[in-house]
Amino acid sequence: MLDVRELTTSYGAVTALDRLTFSAPRGKITAVLGANGAGKTTLLRTLSGLVRPTHGSAELEGADLVRTPTEAMSGLGLAHVPEGRGVITELTVEENLRLGGLGRSARSQAAPLDRVFTLFPVLSDRRNAIAHVLSGGERQMLVIGRALMATPKILLLDEPSLGLAPRVVGQIFDLLRSLVESDGLTVLLVEQNARSALSIADFGVVLNLGRLVVHDEAAVLAADEKLRHAYLGF
Ligand code: ATP
Repeated sequence: MLDVRELTTSYGAVTALDRLTFSAPRGKITAVLGANGAGKTTLLRTLSGLVRPTHGSAELEGADLVRTPTEAMSGLGLAHVPEGRGVITELTVEENLRLGGLGRSARSQAAPLDRVFTLFPVLSDRRNAIAHVLSGGERQMLVIGRALMATPKILLLDEPSLGLAPRVVGQIFDLLRSLVESDGLTVLLVEQNARSALSIADFGVVLNLGRLVVHDEAAVLAADEKLRHAYLGF
């Protein structure tokens, strides 16, 4: 599904990703873990074309991501939810969602909008509310829902748990799990919260200083005490 080969991205003299190679299978959650500065955000930014790698390749079902302009990414089936919940607080919940389906007619937005409202009943209940009134967890649901409006094949999620109460993180992660199982979506989940991420992920990729430390099944990583202490913080 997603094949990353020797991917290398630098910011001037800083090599943030260093010959990273891994693949993320279709219909599975792959967690991307590692300490601050490991290169996790840079990986997502490189995959979605926000920064250009100096070396290597990344392909989504054989389509070259590295040479595709950012604005064409959604056509390839890639959606990126950056850290920080970029909700437009002056617009309603539904208007925010429709922004994710821009370029589609109102009619062809109907099915994805229904799907998002089924997945997130709290957004359906508040569809006409100004997004400003939403809690942190609801805003996170809204930005995930907005990305789903483009009916992506792969969702890149950057730190969805940031600043949320454990119960809310649990709700969002459970939803992700059911999305993957029901819709066959592929997810690349960047997280500081390694314990929670591994509890719902199928696979995990651990980075350190831009390099791959290990790539394995999530359960294998979660059971590796040395790895947990050295790189995962639990
Ligand atoms: P965090 O969780 O702190 O965001 P991360 O694993 O996502 O960490 P990145 O943000 O990808 O890591 O950063 C990787 C390295 O690249 C770090 O050394 C960081 O200082 C550097 N870096 C990131 N963005 C830039 C930038 N725009 N300009 C220069 N250096 C950068």
